[in-house]
Amino acid sequence: MYIYADNAATTKTSEAAVKVMTKIMRDIYGNPSSLHTAGQKAKEVLEKARMDIAQCIGADFKEIYFTSGGSEADNQAIISAAYLGARKNKKHIISTPIEHHAVLHTLNKLEKEGFEVTLVPVNETGIVQVEDIKKAIREDTALVTVMYANNEIGTLQPVSEIGKLCREKGVIFHTDAVQAAGHIPINVNEQYIDMLSISAHKFHGPKGTGVLFARKNIPLVNVIEGGAQERGKRAGTENLPAIAGMAKALQEAVADMKENAEKEIVLRDRLIEGLSKISHCVLNGDAKMRLPGNVSFCFEGIEGESLLLLLDAKGIAASSGSACTSGSLDPSHVLLAIGRPHEVAHGSLRLTICAENTEEEIDYIIEETAKVVDYLRSISPVWDELEKGEIEHVI
Ligand SMILES: *Cc1c(COP(=O)(O)O)cnc(C)c1O
Repeated sequence: MYIYADNAATTKTSEAAVKVMTKIMRDIYGNPSSLHTAGQKAKEVLEKARMDIAQCIGADFKEIYFTSGGSEADNQAIISAAYLGARKNKKHIISTPIEHHAVLHTLNKLEKEGFEVTLVPVNETGIVQVEDIKKAIREDTALVTVMYANNEIGTLQPVSEIGKLCREKGVIFHTDAVQAAGHIPINVNEQYIDMLSISAHKFHGPKGTGVLFARKNIPLVNVIEGGAQERGKRAGTENLPAIAGMAKALQEAVADMKENAEKEIVLRDRLIEGLSKISHCVLNGDAKMRLPGNVSFCFEGIEGESLLLLLDAKGIAASSGSACTSGSLDPSHVLLAIGRPHEVAHGSLRLTICAENTEEEIDYIIEETAKVVDYLRSISPVWDELEKGEIEHVI
């Protein structure tokens, strides 16, 4: 048995997307910028994908820019809004401490260029309070960027309320919706979203392609210079097979969203209930305001990395947090931001499921995780001290 439970890191490409991509690679090989028939056929596919994706998020097709993925979309959105603000002497940006590094590192870069960044704290379940954002908005605030759904702990933010507030205050609102797109409903107009990032490989599309949605009144700054593709805002020959595959995967995900979410929530809550029975553990994130497929726990007295390697040996693909921070020894900035002490944050486990997982798989994960946690604690000197009362349990 091999159970893939790391869908927040990436997803399996859907059959329909693979089919579309294969066909385009074989048959529609023209360059969409070429004027001949082969090029124009490719252009048609490109523009159809743009319209299909626009429709999935309630946008106009002229507001859709294809990028190499979520990271590039986040970079371009934030840099564009910041530079636009700077032209009006607005150099203040508001965000949260639990954003993806594509956002946080871009903000760091802007700080070095003289922008001021306020990170509004989140509560203990990882939700940012709209009131706190309201208090943080100043005359010189150029941008509010708050992620739709967190990639580690699955928390959903009050995006519509934040959008409404920003619209009232005349501040640009960007949301990193990479974990949300295809999983929960998005409508950029109803939710007052000015800019939004999505990535195909998080909703069963191909890797290396994504979308930046930006309203027509927001001039984008190029992060990649060159030809005049994407209305001059993103140079480089379009990755047509991937773009068409992304459109297909998103349409599929949106069509099946309700059904998939219902299935996932049943599995997710079964997994949460089962893992909660392990002693000295805590659920990370909000019990209700969370992605249908996200389960995140901290276990006291163990290292998340050892846990996930032993689970892998049992045929379970999990994660200790975010795929982007693994390989670094620092505990997750998200878990620290929700108040987990360092030693607890180190013992994290993220299981992110999709609608294809089964109850049997969930029960197997629960059983094996309990065994592996027991084993790791039995060989842990820290657990020994905790059990002898030499140091105190914190969870
Ligand atoms: C995966 C992810 C990204 C990065 O997307 P890529 O397409 O891998 O560059 C950005 N933000 C969030 C929340 C993510 O989960």
